[in-house]
Amino acid sequence: MKRRNIIKALGAATVAGTLAACKPEDNKCEKAQPQDSKTYDWKMVTAWPKNFPALGTGANFLAETITTLSGGRITIKVYGGGELVPPLEVFDAVSNGTAQMGHAGSYYWKGKVPEAQFFGAVPFGMNAQEMNAWLYHGGGLDLWTELYSAFNLVPFPVGQTGVQMGGWFNKEIKTVADIQGLVMRIPGLGGDVLKRAGGSPKLLPGSELFTSLQTGNIDATEWVGPYNDLAFGLYQAAKYYYYPGWHEPTACLEGIVNKEAYNELPDDLQQIVKIACMAANQNMLSDFTAKNKTALDTLLSEHKVQLRQYPSEVLEEFKHHAHDVFNELGNSSEMGNKIYQSYKSFAEQTKSWLDISEKSYFKAR
Ligand code: CA
Repeated sequence: MKRRNIIKALGAATVAGTLAACKPEDNKCEKAQPQDSKTYDWKMVTAWPKNFPALGTGANFLAETITTLSGGRITIKVYGGGELVPPLEVFDAVSNGTAQMGHAGSYYWKGKVPEAQFFGAVPFGMNAQEMNAWLYHGGGLDLWTELYSAFNLVPFPVGQTGVQMGGWFNKEIKTVADIQGLVMRIPGLGGDVLKRAGGSPKLLPGSELFTSLQTGNIDATEWVGPYNDLAFGLYQAAKYYYYPGWHEPTACLEGIVNKEAYNELPDDLQQIVKIACMAANQNMLSDFTAKNKTALDTLLSEHKVQLRQYPSEVLEEFKHHAHDVFNELGNSSEMGNKIYQSYKSFAEQTKSWLDISEKSYFKAR
């Protein structure tokens, strides 16, 4: 579906939703119409280079969709990482009102809000389909909203990457011994797992990956998947490309809104922001799914990248530590435990269903 048609369909869905929620007999429908003509000029800061494939263009899609659905009552100027604030300062900038909105990954804030990592990526945890189910229909988003409220933020899922790639290495990873002392850019809980397996994790914004890898500042890096990794030219700095991305079975990216800015909006505009975030969330997963294979083909055939699967011995070692890291985060605070219990029980329940639905279908087809 072309973007214009998506937006048109969304507009119809929003109107339908609004009308369905009102009762014609008591005239409440009139109150659901746009309340006023006040306009809002917002800034959206992002953790990505401006217009970067899927991530940056996904942020643009969100901004454009909000403006279109609101009939221009909200306009949003999107900033690439470093244009208004550095990529890893998006959280603070939206929290303190420097910008009304931001787009980034929640695990970037692990030093400040460790519990936020549950909403970004859990190694060996839920995939995109499961995360969306938990967030929208399993209480996950309510918990995320509660967690971020203390930071003056309203969060929304805005973009699933799907299962990522394991990363770029200059040497083959054949045994657990090859992980020892390995300096790798890998954020969030995946970084904690790597550390326990003997590696040395680093958090760097995407824009610094290529140079860091090429200069030997890091030995290895993960980023997202073929579509994004090709765009950064990582194949020029490392030869071996590993899968699967055990550390990020999806990255659920976040759209964050400054709480005062959000509360200032009339009900219909709040609803538009919510629905536009849902649309952008799905749009990004579709974008990645559509583009990854072609990009992988280019990496393998044109750039002679060596594709490798992690040995099961190495994956088992990571999984063992992932289990500990997940449990420890779940026992690190009261709020952490609340989120952990919800995530864990939902993941167990949905896995047993996906085993007989998606997984058995993948095997059968
Ligand atoms: Ca990643």
